[in-house]
Amino acid sequence: MKTIGYAASAAGAPLSPYAFERRALRPNDVAMEILYCGVCHTDLHMARNDWGWTTYPIVPGHEIVGRVIEVGPEVTRFKAGDAVAVGCMVDSCQRCDQCRKGEEQLCREGITQTYNCPDRMTGDITYGGYSKHVVVREEFVLSVPDGLDLSRAAPLLCAGITTYSPLRTWNVGPGSRVGVIGLGGLGHMAVKLASGLGAHVAVLSRSHDKQADARALGADELLVSTHKEAMVKAGSSFDLIVDTVPVRHDLNPYLPLLDVDGTLVIVGQVGPLEEPITTPLLLGRRRVAGSPIGGIAETGEMLDFCGRKNILPECEMIRMDAINEAFERMERSDVRYRFVIDMSSLPGRAA
Ligand code: NAP
Ligand code: ZN
Ligand code: ZN
Repeated sequence: MKTIGYAASAAGAPLSPYAFERRALRPNDVAMEILYCGVCHTDLHMARNDWGWTTYPIVPGHEIVGRVIEVGPEVTRFKAGDAVAVGCMVDSCQRCDQCRKGEEQLCREGITQTYNCPDRMTGDITYGGYSKHVVVREEFVLSVPDGLDLSRAAPLLCAGITTYSPLRTWNVGPGSRVGVIGLGGLGHMAVKLASGLGAHVAVLSRSHDKQADARALGADELLVSTHKEAMVKAGSSFDLIVDTVPVRHDLNPYLPLLDVDGTLVIVGQVGPLEEPITTPLLLGRRRVAGSPIGGIAETGEMLDFCGRKNILPECEMIRMDAINEAFERMERSDVRYRFVIDMSSLPGRAA
């Protein structure tokens, strides 16, 4: 199937139109027309080769919502016309202990990422959701619950599940005290989801600028992380802190904020941090952890939860050709709180 997308051809190059083929349907494949795709900070990191493992050309995008146009003969759960979604994974081994318990994101053989990853059967590099169409095996396609606004649901597929999963892992519920570092795409979903689960939520931001937004999103308070006095006052007051900062940063100001047995879970920066001082970890039995996206079952659970509670991201809709400006704005944290690409702005259709 011929399709069109937007790709970067080198680390410093802007994204531009790119025509390519989607694979012919395998028996268990679902082909979908993409209606909307969210813009994750990972897309920016990967397009620019920040982590050193990008293969060019790269078609980013892993917050995908659309409609089924065709299914392979063995597909049982979907039919043409269904509203469906795809997140950060499109395949895994399906056999290891992690896959068998529904934690495909932790597959022992490694997941096949939605973009920039070799396909398990052909070795071809996967292309993501900044495109008109995508073909994905049934097991990695999710139903969008009835009533969830399709034009706003896409960011749930990465920002949503990446923050929902640690909230569930650390049993967040009524009475939990949750801090969220960085109020961006992931951060604002962490606030909405933690608040939806009944927790007391504080945003830890670099300034007061987002104070009113934090409240409107469901946070109980906003702490300015550079405000020493407020940070000291907040000592030992969190059970879980979700750290969404996308770059190298210093955890040391945040560790004393955890209560005994509290955990700071990193979901943002991939790579080095400033040197941690272990004193608050030892003396307070505090922990630092990490967490990648979430499994397919948990993603389905999150979508249902959002459907029931009508939890949706705050989106700024953009045209596909505005992606380079959107990347620049995202880098300056000038997005409240997720760009979503309207794929009808991208000309081109299946052959
Ligand atoms: P984003 O929308 O750009 O938000 C990041 C937020 O972090 C900003 O809004 C800002 O909040 C804060 N921030 C930005 N630069 C900072 C700096 N230099 N120092 C301190 N704080 C800073 O990004 P996102 O889409 O939420 O993604 C965040 C990170 O998560 C990215 O690195 C992305 O690759 C990663 N990610 C990981 C997973 C996973 O599986 N674990 C999944 C998706 C994304 P304030 O203005 O409030 O300070
Ligand atoms: Zn993402
Ligand atoms: Zn596996």
